[in-house]
Amino acid sequence: DDPILSVRGLTVAFDTEAGVVRAVDKVGFELNRGRTLGIVGESGCGKSVTALSVMRLLPRPMARIEEGEVVLDGTDLLGLSADAMQTVRGASVAMVFQEPMAALNPVHTLFKQVSEPLRIHRPEMGKKELQAEVVRLLSAVGIPDAESRLSAYPHQLSGGMRQRVMIAMALALSPSILIADEPTTALDVTVQAQILDLIRDIRTSMGMSVIFITHDLGVIAEQCDDVVVMYAGKVVERATVKILFSDPRHPYTKGLLASMPRLDSPRKTRLETITGQVPGLMELPSGCRFRNRCPHVMERCAAEVPSDLVVGQGHEVACHLYDHQGA
Ligand code: SF4
Ligand code: MG
Repeated sequence: DDPILSVRGLTVAFDTEAGVVRAVDKVGFELNRGRTLGIVGESGCGKSVTALSVMRLLPRPMARIEEGEVVLDGTDLLGLSADAMQTVRGASVAMVFQEPMAALNPVHTLFKQVSEPLRIHRPEMGKKELQAEVVRLLSAVGIPDAESRLSAYPHQLSGGMRQRVMIAMALALSPSILIADEPTTALDVTVQAQILDLIRDIRTSMGMSVIFITHDLGVIAEQCDDVVVMYAGKVVERATVKILFSDPRHPYTKGLLASMPRLDSPRKTRLETITGQVPGLMELPSGCRFRNRCPHVMERCAAEVPSDLVVGQGHEVACHLYDHQGA
């Protein structure tokens, strides 16, 4: 394994009226070069907060990184100056968000949007060169007749086309890592499949490493090599996708897999679902955060936070069920 990005012990605190909450608590994972890592979990589990921490784009002043490291090619991004981080953003790590309309500037033409990272990072480029590069980027993400759309505005495009524009912007500086946070959730099913194909093609042709954030295990199965399962701000299981689907260990992962719609029996969807609710971050249970929903809950689950246990090659799970020494 050859990690390009290592996140270690990441803890993110939010100041709320009711006190400090840890939306991400000692989260760690590695993104290996040329691979796609999925981060999966229900909404509110800390997936997006984790991604925003890597980009150092957490909403301030409410959110702050309390602890941890985000090591990119040997450098801890959390120690960089704001200027140095600005260079990393876009040039080394770029991010695509769920809702392109919110991320695009409604009063900027496609040319202005897509050329922005180039104008900032490569001020030596002249207007003609910029124009040619923007056309190349828009064509590369499958926008037909790109040249004639340079003066179009975001609202004149479909949702799928807007997401393609976002991806073109993210690719402008040829980053080595692309973080895609629920990039297809707002799109209809056909367009979703097209955007997923596009991201996969780009990854192969540009040799990028990708972090794919989603609540959808189907997307994980199709797009990812490795996967991290998050629950209530914690990583509960890590494995390759193959192993996670064939040999899930954490009760939460098992529940997620059981609630996945099945291709072979489309009518039997969601018969088995996980009972109960994800706890609010203000009311996290002691010990294991999954214990109010876990069918295997034991006495020690309330007393001790489960630590990461190795259950196979590259397979770790945070659950007392697998702690044979302590049990
Ligand atoms: Fe369930 Fe306990 Fe394992 Fe948590 S630690 S998932 S409550 S068995
Ligand atoms: Mg999110």
